Amino acid sequence: MLAARFLILYGSQRGQAQSIAEEICQQAAEHGFTADINCLSNQHKYNLDSEIRPVVFVISTTGDGDPPDTAQKFVRKIKNKSLPHNHFSHLHYALLALGDTNYANFCNGGKTIDSRLQQLGAKHFYATGHADDGTGLEVVVDPWIEGLWDALKKTFSSMATSDQQDTDLSDCTQDDFHKNASGQEKYKSDLEVDLHLLKLSETDSQKGKAITSDSIDVETLSTVLVASLKQSVPLLSESALNVPALPASYLEVRLEQVSTEGETVPSDKDGYHEVSISKAVQLTQDDAVKTAISLELDISNLAYQPGDAFDILCPNRASEVEELLLRLDLQTQKNCAVQVNLLKNSTAKIPLHIPQNGSLQFILTWCLEIRSAPKKAFVRALADFTQNSSEKRRLLELCSKEGSADYNSFVRDANVCLLDLLRAFPSCLPPLSLLFEHLPKLQPRAYSAASSSLQHPGKVHFVFNVVEFPARPEHPARTGLCTGWLADHVSSILRPLGTVLASERLGTSAPPKVHVRPRPSGTFHLPADPSVPVVMVGPGTGVAPFIGFLQQREKEREANQEATFGETWLFFGCRHKDKDFLFREELERFAHNGTLSHLIVCFSRDEPDAAGTVNRPTYVQHNLSLHAKNVASILLKDKGSLYVCGDAKNMAKDVNDTLLEIIGNELQIDKLDAMKTVAGLREEKRYLQDIWS
Ligand code: FAD
Repeated sequence: MLAARFLILYGSQRGQAQSIAEEICQQAAEHGFTADINCLSNQHKYNLDSEIRPVVFVISTTGDGDPPDTAQKFVRKIKNKSLPHNHFSHLHYALLALGDTNYANFCNGGKTIDSRLQQLGAKHFYATGHADDGTGLEVVVDPWIEGLWDALKKTFSSMATSDQQDTDLSDCTQDDFHKNASGQEKYKSDLEVDLHLLKLSETDSQKGKAITSDSIDVETLSTVLVASLKQSVPLLSESALNVPALPASYLEVRLEQVSTEGETVPSDKDGYHEVSISKAVQLTQDDAVKTAISLELDISNLAYQPGDAFDILCPNRASEVEELLLRLDLQTQKNCAVQVNLLKNSTAKIPLHIPQNGSLQFILTWCLEIRSAPKKAFVRALADFTQNSSEKRRLLELCSKEGSADYNSFVRDANVCLLDLLRAFPSCLPPLSLLFEHLPKLQPRAYSAASSSLQHPGKVHFVFNVVEFPARPEHPARTGLCTGWLADHVSSILRPLGTVLASERLGTSAPPKVHVRPRPSGTFHLPADPSVPVVMVGPGTGVAPFIGFLQQREKEREANQEATFGETWLFFGCRHKDKDFLFREELERFAHNGTLSHLIVCFSRDEPDAAGTVNRPTYVQHNLSLHAKNVASILLKDKGSLYVCGDAKNMAKDVNDTLLEIIGNELQIDKLDAMKTVAGLREEKRYLQDIWS
């Protein structure tokens, strides 16, 4: 029987939209559909101008609310002004937009495509989903996908009965469709079986009985029995569960006894270059709350501009890979070559990030994000490889609708990874194929250039905080994957601030190396006209790109003494003046020699000075308010630019709120109009953000 066929197109920047699109593709078969899947950049593989199958778009957002790089060409194509208003009147589509409310222009990548498709006459067959990475994509993605199947079913149904039905439509004739529809019915009843009432395990029911016989009410009980990753409390522990359908497995993994020992680094495909780290300096005092480290890399012929970033490849922790191998009973096979094949009849694709014939250790180290919080579908699949009935029940609870709050608290928000689950559920022993099906691609981490090549030819500098996650009941203390690894990796050359620079002391020992790839920014650059004034807001490591800007400006001023340079303002903040004032000497030099017209600094944790200044500014936004007149004048009168870099969660929002206040007060307008003015600044690329969480 031919299945109803639809097309999935994704535009992905860092792999999330792609992996969601792939998940939809995989699930399609379970629901009686066949899906073709393509990246939007592969324009020769699809043709929307004549596409009559339903199309599902999954689109992420990047930069300042832009569609991902892989979708840029497509967006240019559909934005062509000569296209008639009914150009896509034949097209039926659904769109899932991904974004992060911590950033400006939430989901704008998807919104841009959605609104243009609408303008060109395309029709929604299912409401657009807007998923927020800030609160967890799956909160929207999971129910959106769940609802998609019914919507597709209805669409095929109406297409099949419409006069316009075309044999190409779905590879299915009307008969096929009805056959298929009965397949759907079968699925429905399967689903109903899947959404079965899962009985309490014997132990759980005994617990429940003992407790009720003591006549303790549920509220009291919850305070006695505390829920954790490993155990639930009533009501959940006594509840019937709605669990997701078991994802169909699609990979077969074989381990060949060919030794691949010695394969320790990724190949340089995908544009990565292996470069030496020539200097590493700790920028903070040992007793600072966070440790900031600056690195200098020898990049010889890699070009960049201040404002650009670089992607760094980092491996998973060797100790975690070892533990995983041991736990899966695969320790002795770690050097075997891995062969991955699709299971017979599977319509899915082998994940591109898993190389053929790579060693098992290599794949677990460099290709799979083993630290990622397992999605509900993965937890569901793990339950089926768990022998102990209480453990299995708990895993099913965690992926169920009823256990959603527990999943959020004990898995997602606790940043529990696969290894944490395997520690908590000792009888769970999943096959390797399951890990390959569910673990996402290990993503590189981006770092903003904190230098200008005019000042440091052939070099780039980065600065980063070593991210620290304290121990919790669900997992031991650990450092961020990349920042923890980098800190260890450079420990042999790391020097405290103010001592002889590492490269001068290196002697003959080989410098540590790292794989990097330039990640140019489309907009986050100094204005082309140097006379334009700029306001920079960059507390903590957010100061990184501004060090690059100012180094560049310093050199340009030296080279063009006659030229006019606009005012430069930098709002910097840290906790303590004497512990974590990053780049203090360099910033003071810029202020001293006029490169920086105004260096405005605040310290959030220092005691008030002897004069006991009341209401002293604590954070950058307070200083912005104190200089509101100047900021407003630069932005509104002098056509200047505002740059904000650093923490997306709090700082960027607070700065944005302050900006609205400043503009509202200056122009004597209400908040809505102030928002419009700020949106205008964004549009003109005079309010730019480079923020991360
Ligand atoms: P990860 O291991 O990836 O952890 C980071 C996040 O994962 C946390 O914020 C948290 O949400 C979650 N997480 C994982 N495990 C836990 C846990 N156990 N408990 C709680 N939360 C957990 N950073 C800089 O320092 N300097 C820069 O110049 C810089 N520039 C950037 C430029 C761009 C364009 C972008 C996109 C990001 C930039 N970043 C920068 C951020 C940087 O890429 C990394 O995200 C950051 O360094 C953390 O990486 P990590 O691998 O150490 O942490």
